[in-house]
Amino acid sequence: MTEREYVGAIHLHSTFSDGRQPVEEIVAEAQRAGLDYIVVSDHNSDGTARIGLTGRHGGLLVLSAPEVGGRGNPHFLAFGLRDLDALVGMPSADALEAAAAQGAANVIAHPHAAHIALLPRKPVDWEHWDTHAFRGMEIWSYMHDVCHNAVPWRLPLVFTWHRLLVTGPRPETLALWDRLCLTRRVAAFGSLDNHATRKMVIREMYPHRDLFQTIHTHVVCPPLPDDAAAAAAALTDALLDGRSFIAMDTWASAAGFRFRVEGAAGSLGLGQEAPWQPGLRLVVESPREAELTVLRNGEPIERQRDCRRLELPAEGPGVYRIQGRRGRRPWVFTNPIYLRDA
Ligand SMILES: [Zn+2]
Ligand SMILES: [Zn+2]
Repeated sequence: MTEREYVGAIHLHSTFSDGRQPVEEIVAEAQRAGLDYIVVSDHNSDGTARIGLTGRHGGLLVLSAPEVGGRGNPHFLAFGLRDLDALVGMPSADALEAAAAQGAANVIAHPHAAHIALLPRKPVDWEHWDTHAFRGMEIWSYMHDVCHNAVPWRLPLVFTWHRLLVTGPRPETLALWDRLCLTRRVAAFGSLDNHATRKMVIREMYPHRDLFQTIHTHVVCPPLPDDAAAAAAALTDALLDGRSFIAMDTWASAAGFRFRVEGAAGSLGLGQEAPWQPGLRLVVESPREAELTVLRNGEPIERQRDCRRLELPAEGPGVYRIQGRRGRRPWVFTNPIYLRDA
């Protein structure tokens, strides 16, 4: 089957909540950046959909998945929520269940929230994991990396080269995700969580046009239908199925990165699940030389430097995923392929 790759940015705040830019401007900047899709996630607001801005804008598909959860509560993104108002004021764990009962597909946002040095505000981690009311979780968030690394002696970077503060998914987040994936599929999402909030005297801080060059979620799926609503539904399904990988494309574009499992009966792509059987092979292709690590159930089983293609047998059942680094920088994190014990 032919597949296409759709590169997009997830978790953006507009003036419908505490972002600085109106969504119309964000859409225009995403178009200029050449993105295939964006997901707007305003706090407890679906304003983007309400004013009819979701859908196609030339080559750009605009989705809205409100970020549910109040101040001092953990947050989740809800795709396909019907009645947002019904959730307002609920504790986040209850809101998650209520959203799922409405038919929404939920994604846990920044599960280990960054604690900003110098600020007294305590971060709120997501703790309500013993539920099936979510389909995915953010594993890597640009602004949470920046905040996490914004210690006083790095403050100049916070205002200038903040991309140097983007140091990759937190180990505790990856460990938690790997653990969850042992028994169920949990789609990983890359996020910006950008507000483009402050305008300093000297320069604009964190404009979307800059962050649109950074962490992308690359969806690899059959070509999207022409109809805008059908395309949005298909892209959402692909994201929630984990048919994607996350890349920090600032350093080098990861477009074309592929991970699949090949066997006599065909091949399995990102996010897919099948019984393990002897003879299956893991195949990784990278558009650029990178240090590629193969993980099985969260444990590295193979690592090769300066590598563009890697192939090895799947020796047994397991949740297999790939991490790629370029130099000292984290670069690519794929969703897993799940080879279950038959
Ligand atoms: Zn949040
Ligand atoms: Zn947010």
